[in-house]
Amino acid sequence: MLLKNASNKSKRINQPDMGELEHKFEVEINTTENKQKLPDEVKAELKETGMMDEKGKLKLKGVSPKMLKKMKQEFVNCPVLKEEVQFVQCFICPNFQSRVMGKVLCKGDSLK
Ligand code: SF4
Repeated sequence: MLLKNASNKSKRINQPDMGELEHKFEVEINTTENKQKLPDEVKAELKETGMMDEKGKLKLKGVSPKMLKKMKQEFVNCPVLKEEVQFVQCFICPNFQSRVMGKVLCKGDSLK
């Protein structure tokens, strides 16, 4: 009898969806040849969190210099801020989930 109960319980499988991260937007990543400048408040945030040194050089963990160079030429049309945002800024945004096949998976929460 006890065993029967146990097997009934095991049928209630709580299966998290591991296949896909929860996100609201898939934001296309664009490339520009123009030099992009990070806003001062973003720079300050990067410095505070140790992701930028005093000279303004980016130090993102796990990002190779080659990848960083590429990232600096990328931007997204942010659906939350409703403006163009450098990929570096997007990458450190609390809404950033992942980068998949040229797109950012964005949580889409309000940033205000
Ligand atoms: S992760 Fe942040 S910056 Fe990037 S698209 Fe989403 S809200 Fe905009």
